[in-house]
Amino acid sequence: MQPVYSRIPVSDAGGMAVHLPVVDIGPQPRKLAVIAGIHGDEPSPLLLVDRLVVALQDRDLKAGIRIVAAANPPALMQRARWSSWDDEDMNRIGDGAGGPSLTRRLAAALCEVVDGCELVLNLHNFVMRTPLLAIQPPAQSPERLARHKRYIEALDPHVVWVFGQGPDDVAIFQSSIDAAMERRGSDVMAIEMADLPEFDEPLMRRAVAGLLRLAALTGCIDDPAIPLKRNAVFVQRRLMRAPGAGIFEPIAPLGGPIREGDVVGNLIPLERPGERVAVRAPAEGWLIQRLGQRFVRPGDMIATVGLNTPAGA
Ligand SMILES: [Zn+2]
Repeated sequence: MQPVYSRIPVSDAGGMAVHLPVVDIGPQPRKLAVIAGIHGDEPSPLLLVDRLVVALQDRDLKAGIRIVAAANPPALMQRARWSSWDDEDMNRIGDGAGGPSLTRRLAAALCEVVDGCELVLNLHNFVMRTPLLAIQPPAQSPERLARHKRYIEALDPHVVWVFGQGPDDVAIFQSSIDAAMERRGSDVMAIEMADLPEFDEPLMRRAVAGLLRLAALTGCIDDPAIPLKRNAVFVQRRLMRAPGAGIFEPIAPLGGPIREGDVVGNLIPLERPGERVAVRAPAEGWLIQRLGQRFVRPGDMIATVGLNTPAGA
């Protein structure tokens, strides 16, 4: 089915009109929404929704899918996580709470355009190399958790990042646009992937297959009958940060098991070429994210160890 492109006017920003671009495929009612580009420096989700639209053009749709490929145009134009016009993180201001800033108006418009969808997919990428990763948010009711398990089974990711249940974890989630959309009646799943150019074809194919299965689960298309891998690990994240400035050189393979003290990679210090600072895993688990060879500043994210946790814990 062919996509229909439209633009929702959001604001007149000092003489420049700002719109939310929307792509609709399939008949009413709309059941699934897919959002990319809430953060303006994350291009992989834009590529993924392009491949999704192409894949849907060959299929009959029984219900509508709404795609917002560029949810935060000012941030995307600046290629920055958020726009310097107001320095607000669109992923962390709920539904904008009626605020006047452009980012808050965009958040409000985004919530409105996906209202009524059963499921909303919020796509992001990390700078670190990241396999297909679904987030399991905290403080879900047993019914909502059961639905989330079905979404995860359909997506078939490599990793499920299970949020902690502590008060800080719950508070962080409650401020998110995902939580705002949940309060408005949609289920939301946040999905992460690798940045360009490390978002490679096998990862792309797995992600497209997952989105098509989720489209089938929500009744938008027939079951695409793509085999499942079912090798997801359920983990909590332990983040590792760069101990100084320099070039990070990875050593440990991404995705494998890792023990406490294993060398994840070396930092070549900016001011002391010839030396190596070993960056070691802080705990036993799975190396679920890791930078490729990159320039890092002190405190930059270098890797994440996934600590085993039971599903739904
Ligand atoms: Zn993001």
